[in-house]
Amino acid sequence: MTDTSAPLVEVRGLEKSFGDNRVLQGVDFAADAGTTTVLIGPSGSGKTTILRSLNVLEVPDTGTVRIDDVEVDFAALPHRAKAARARTSRLRSQSGMVFQSHQLFPHKTVLENVIEGPVQVQRRPREDAVADARRLLDQVGLSEKADQHPFELSGGQQQRVGIARALALKPKVVLFDEPTSALDPELVGEVLDVIKDLATEGWTTVIVTHEIRFAEQVADQVLFLDGGVVVERGTSAQVIGDPAQERTRQFLKRIL
Ligand code: ADP
Repeated sequence: MTDTSAPLVEVRGLEKSFGDNRVLQGVDFAADAGTTTVLIGPSGSGKTTILRSLNVLEVPDTGTVRIDDVEVDFAALPHRAKAARARTSRLRSQSGMVFQSHQLFPHKTVLENVIEGPVQVQRRPREDAVADARRLLDQVGLSEKADQHPFELSGGQQQRVGIARALALKPKVVLFDEPTSALDPELVGEVLDVIKDLATEGWTTVIVTHEIRFAEQVADQVLFLDGGVVVERGTSAQVIGDPAQERTRQFLKRIL
């Protein structure tokens, strides 16, 4: 049975190296259901690697990740790749990832893109998936575009389809990897507005972003990373508004 008092997401002792590059050096954090966690920090500090570890697109060297009732201890994974994948695939399906650029199927319509995962991967009945997809497209303000192809949409609209597609899989947690950094500045706002709405609708999200003002508005907790460790954590008022650590202050001074 799920313990409702425990955080929905729990990361402990996460370490990851690429060759000699120790990218994560013992990252811990937890996130309650229905909250928004924002990861900030300089380029190369390990933010994306954390997200990718949550979704097991990257396999950490050691540490544990738990999302709801599925936990993986990466130090204890079987050596055989197939057996390891069997252990991690349940954890992967607990979260949905929205990437920097949308990665939609170009030859499929918007609606087909959104139902692809539910129908092909989750084997849900097509009619249910279509009904869900139409509701999600409405939610991201794109119900009119259901039968168009990605190339007919603006970058911001494509990214909103990417969000609907991630939500269609009904993940426990939605992960955003710099969701606006590939967009022209005038298209950033519409995507951030959709992400903001998710927070009010009770979705649990973990977001990597350089949009500090946005982070300030939506985050229940902010983690400032530098050199593969969490240097500072707290509410946005604490970490962004009144940082305790010199490294956080320097970073914010540079980007604000
Ligand atoms: P951030 O998201 O904070 O910019 P990343 O997690 O993307 O940081 O990257 C952290 C470090 O890990 C960087 O030095 C990056 O070059 C390195 N890195 C990330 N992914 C790989 C990879 N697949 N292979 C080798 N090095 C990588």
